[in-house]
Amino acid sequence: MFEKILIANRGEIALRIQRACREMGIKTVVVHSEADREAKYVKLADESVCIGPAASAQSYLSMPAIISAAEVTDAEAIHPGYGFLSENADFAERVEKSGFVFIGPRSESIRLMGDKVSAKQAMIKAGVPCVPGSEGALPDDPKAIIQTARKVGYPVIIKAAGGGGGRGMRVVHTEAALLNAVTMTKTEAGAAFGNPEVYMEKFLENPRHVEIQILADEFKNAIWLGERDCSMQRRHQKVIEEAPAVGIPRKLIEKIGDRCAEACRKIGYRGAGTFEFLYEAGEFYFIEMNTRIQVEHPVTEMVTGVDLVQEQIRVAAGEKLRYRQRDIVLKGHAIECRINAEDPFKFTPSPGRILSWHAPGGPGIRVDSHAYAGYYVPPHYDSMIGKVIAYGATREQAIKRMQIALSEMVVEGIMTNIPLHRELMVDARFGEGGTNIHYLEHKLADKPDLVHDPKLASKK
Ligand code: ADP
Repeated sequence: MFEKILIANRGEIALRIQRACREMGIKTVVVHSEADREAKYVKLADESVCIGPAASAQSYLSMPAIISAAEVTDAEAIHPGYGFLSENADFAERVEKSGFVFIGPRSESIRLMGDKVSAKQAMIKAGVPCVPGSEGALPDDPKAIIQTARKVGYPVIIKAAGGGGGRGMRVVHTEAALLNAVTMTKTEAGAAFGNPEVYMEKFLENPRHVEIQILADEFKNAIWLGERDCSMQRRHQKVIEEAPAVGIPRKLIEKIGDRCAEACRKIGYRGAGTFEFLYEAGEFYFIEMNTRIQVEHPVTEMVTGVDLVQEQIRVAAGEKLRYRQRDIVLKGHAIECRINAEDPFKFTPSPGRILSWHAPGGPGIRVDSHAYAGYYVPPHYDSMIGKVIAYGATREQAIKRMQIALSEMVVEGIMTNIPLHRELMVDARFGEGGTNIHYLEHKLADKPDLVHDPKLASKK
């Protein structure tokens, strides 16, 4: 096992990785920007290295700065967390070439899955169901494009092969709009991702977002660890996640999960990863794979009892998976609310000094956060300041516990989206479960006077 790991990330995930390392007796090096110098998790690490100014491009995205930090501290491996360089195949390659272990998949796997056209082709080959659409990238020939769209059936969505973060997509409802949309998406994709390739898919109108967590080792052992429903989204950003997904036949999920594990064995995948699907009318459709740990990994940890970050580290160190598929037994229900420093209904960022912080607790409550009273939320990064996870024997109990947790939680000095989460936890449709990916936006649009949280109302 490694003696020392460098954590190339910030915020709650930097702390989460640090905790996993400490439990395993591994020393940690945290790299940080000037803006994160005072963060408590930086002080808690065995060593810390300032790698640049606040701007991510010169710190958390600077490959030479991170690799030099690993060199001067004698770290053996680098954990990239999520976001930043975690899905950058060039970074993984440079880390390995510099003699360190990248805690994640091999660079070839990241590259294969980072290009959505090649990822989809690999999945089709592995028997994972995909959204019907063009075979590979769209050709230049306008007639062929029109033919493909007729075959797929409108509405269609044009997506950039190199797209990510919900960007580089365009929905087309009629043939008249098709060619123009393809040209525009190509131009934008070329400029934004350096790759003008686009492909076409059937646009699913009311899907849910359901994803499968997997773990694989170097020896072609691969397992899946249940599913997560992440349909509660705003602008393609997940707001609430839960495991398991309500109302989907277990047999169907097992079939898809087995296919995902099989696909990992076929492509020689190593590490943790997530297969994202859209689920509509009883069918699963693969959309992309994330080759890293995800923000929502705790809900899976709560229902499986597996520490995903520790397992990531173990398989990166060349160990065999300690679990077989039959060891993975889902128990109970878990829900995660992402706590963001933002206006709860206008969604404008709200960075600044946290004056008071009271985190909830009690049975089944887990809080993953690097924040505390006196912590300054820097304006330079993602607005997420933590996650509250509630576990219960049933979904009803998990929701109840989350309601209590959110009612106890106090964050003063900045605005947070806690009032939105309080509303959602008593929302009747959420209570029933199975809402689709448009539900939250529709709810926000239909009910501008949604705010009847007394604490929030008094602030207005
Ligand atoms: P990104 O890598 O940018 O997150 P994805 O391929 O994961 O891109 O798609 C992001 C989101 O776009 C999905 O969660 C879904 O809301 C929407 N989307 C993508 N493909 C389709 C499709 N074929 N039909 C309907 N919605 C889609």
